[in-house]
Amino acid sequence: MLMFNMVGELEDVLNKVYENPRQSFKEIKHFLLLEDEKELKCLFSFADKVRKEFIGEGVLLRGLVEFSNNCANSCFYCGLNKQGSSIKRYGMSRDEIMRAIGDLSAVNIKTVVLQSGEDNGLDPLWLAGIIKDIKSNFGLAVTLSVGEKPYGEYRLWRDAGADRYLLKIETTDPQVYAAAHSGRLIESRLKCLDDLISLGYQVGSGVLVGLRGQTVDSLARDILFFQDKNFDMIGIGPFIPHPGTFFANDKPGDIRLTLKVIALTRIITRDAHMPATTALGSAGADYRIEGLKSGANVLMPNFTPLRYRALYEIYPGKTCLKEASEKCILCMDEKAKISGRFLDYSAGHSIKKRHLFN
Ligand code: SAH
Repeated sequence: MLMFNMVGELEDVLNKVYENPRQSFKEIKHFLLLEDEKELKCLFSFADKVRKEFIGEGVLLRGLVEFSNNCANSCFYCGLNKQGSSIKRYGMSRDEIMRAIGDLSAVNIKTVVLQSGEDNGLDPLWLAGIIKDIKSNFGLAVTLSVGEKPYGEYRLWRDAGADRYLLKIETTDPQVYAAAHSGRLIESRLKCLDDLISLGYQVGSGVLVGLRGQTVDSLARDILFFQDKNFDMIGIGPFIPHPGTFFANDKPGDIRLTLKVIALTRIITRDAHMPATTALGSAGADYRIEGLKSGANVLMPNFTPLRYRALYEIYPGKTCLKEASEKCILCMDEKAKISGRFLDYSAGHSIKKRHLFN
């Protein structure tokens, strides 16, 4: 059991959540509903201590390359949706991708995240070739985030050397999920997550906070789902309305609630890698430092070439649209320092599966 300096009832309740999340559904809900500043501080600092105990003070870096905004889906919250959005579509060539990877490798980042819309035209062999090249030329950890795909493609990419995969469940509430997606089933997303786990990927998932119809009950269940699945990485960000979507006029996700979800997820999952997400950095102001102080331990500088960056508009007002990637590192360094931490330039493999990766 962890030792904390805090006193009082709240600490006991947090310890119960920490020790026994399954029996703490009511308590988790209680913390999601907290408004009192002092009590909130207590929650965030508990999460911060769990982070320190299981992960330490290093802030890991993942270099993000958004290589295509082509998407065949119409998620009602996402600016890349095939219907409402009038954005110009792009797909980076193999050379462009390798140059972006050269850039991030040059500043000593050891993980690349290759993300795209869910592009039906994505050639699995083309991507497998890129993964192999990254591995042999740069030796980086490779994370993919290209959506729901058949098992055979996940296997091909794993065999090609991909280490990690990010696929957010977005919400575990079947009704909220159904109301936010057209023609897509939560069951198929869950199956994809199970496929990825069975293939030995380090698997990341996560949710949006503030989706239409979402309740604290469903958020509490999301957090318990993260523990159930024992994910290696968990990304939690606020919903930000995009004008080219069905949810254009919905209220943005509440930042404080987002931070509470991050904190409780840290307390319950303990050693999962958790980014202070770009969405948290783009919600009117930059709240990534608050994220780092509430349990998060990862930052994701953007290495998408500037000419494409603004086109990967999953939500408006995305942070760092004009920053040259080299400058990004300085900014990340500052955020880590303000949070009393330092940038950790290691590959940052899953703590749960570290022995299986190098
Ligand atoms: N096509 C990939 C990647 C999607 S984009 C996939 O399906 O996994 C990455 C993440 O952006 C999504 O998982 C979602 O959580 C987030 N996102 C999309 N629209 C958003 C919005 N309006 N506000 C905040 N985050 C959003």
